[in-house]
Amino acid sequence: MTQFQGKFRLERAHLQRLFDALIRRGYQIVGPTVRDRAIVYEQLNSVADLPMGWADEQDGGSYRLKKRDDEALFGFTVGPHSWKQFLHPPKQRLWRAERQGKSFDIIQEDDKPPKYAFIGVRSCDLHAIAVQDRVLLHDRSADPIYRARREDCFIVAVNCGQAGGTCFCVSMMTGPKATFGFDLAMTEVLEGERHYFVVEVGTEKGVEAINEITHCEAGDGEQARAEQIVARTATQMGRAMETADIKELLYRNYEHPRWDDVASRCLTCANCTMVCPTCFCTTVEDVSDLTGEHAERWRRWDSCFTMDFSYVHGGSVRATPRSRYRQWMTHKLATWIDQFGTSGCIGCGRCITWCPVGIDLTEETRAIRETEAAGSQSREGISGNA
Ligand code: SF4
Ligand code: SF4
Repeated sequence: MTQFQGKFRLERAHLQRLFDALIRRGYQIVGPTVRDRAIVYEQLNSVADLPMGWADEQDGGSYRLKKRDDEALFGFTVGPHSWKQFLHPPKQRLWRAERQGKSFDIIQEDDKPPKYAFIGVRSCDLHAIAVQDRVLLHDRSADPIYRARREDCFIVAVNCGQAGGTCFCVSMMTGPKATFGFDLAMTEVLEGERHYFVVEVGTEKGVEAINEITHCEAGDGEQARAEQIVARTATQMGRAMETADIKELLYRNYEHPRWDDVASRCLTCANCTMVCPTCFCTTVEDVSDLTGEHAERWRRWDSCFTMDFSYVHGGSVRATPRSRYRQWMTHKLATWIDQFGTSGCIGCGRCITWCPVGIDLTEETRAIRETEAAGSQSREGISGNA
């Protein structure tokens, strides 16, 4: 990415002007807002829709909103939503068919998505978007639906001012500071009566947008304050994961007894795959109405936790919770690296928070690492008994 020089200060009171500038440029603004006692991503009409004064508390299987004692607009981490629901929608009609006598016409779906401006994208989620770009934009099976939604996106990243209880982006080297993939990146600063953003520009589109609104160069002290905020966040991670040798660790331990242990807790509900910002699997379903005059083909998100996902002529390849959890975690942390050249996990912690029984892939990995010898003994026992 071209480096754009200088950092700017945007007063909190002028943030609405950025929204207005983006709307004038034809963008639909999507960002965080409070709904159903969670911070979710939805279309925003103005700065007033942002979750002012809200924070979240997260742990394994637990998510709570709580009030902050200030008026921070981005004083929380990530919630159940991710940007993939806009770029890679959960449900998408692919085509319709209309009966014409003894034949039928196929009507291709005319998907004209809005031009999205995403406000408040965290660094881990910039990495998640890059992972999905690799799979859905740059791979040989590039997806035209994703491309149409992704190409015109305007991204306003927000550097994290505090880490969540299930965050581990530092371990995955994906945060908490945005380093690529944004048009603008902002750090929110609250100092006494002052409330402003230190803004970094990442693209020409970002230059054009910032030039349309009132701003000035950030002073050395303001830039230093923003750096301190992000540096402090990096020390607050709720989780950590040792990634050295992780691919080989998991490849060596396909038969580790820990997979039975996690299977005894896993409900195979698929929540972890639904909230994960990098999971991209889909299935295709055909539906028709009772008259037989109309039929539709839909694509929808699928999950490797369902029995149908690996169903092949008469049975599921992964018939047990043990094999399904092992497939998911080993794909995220090991086989994804062979397949796409990066980890499939960006350390956002969503799968830990939104797992109803609090299964935690950092803990499962640690358990396998710490008890690898036990796994080896178990394997020897299996082969000795065979
Ligand atoms: S790990 Fe948790 S969220 Fe994932 S399928 Fe099992 S119970 Fe559901
Ligand atoms: S596997 Fe879990 S922590 Fe990793 S990117 Fe997916 S949801 Fe986030």
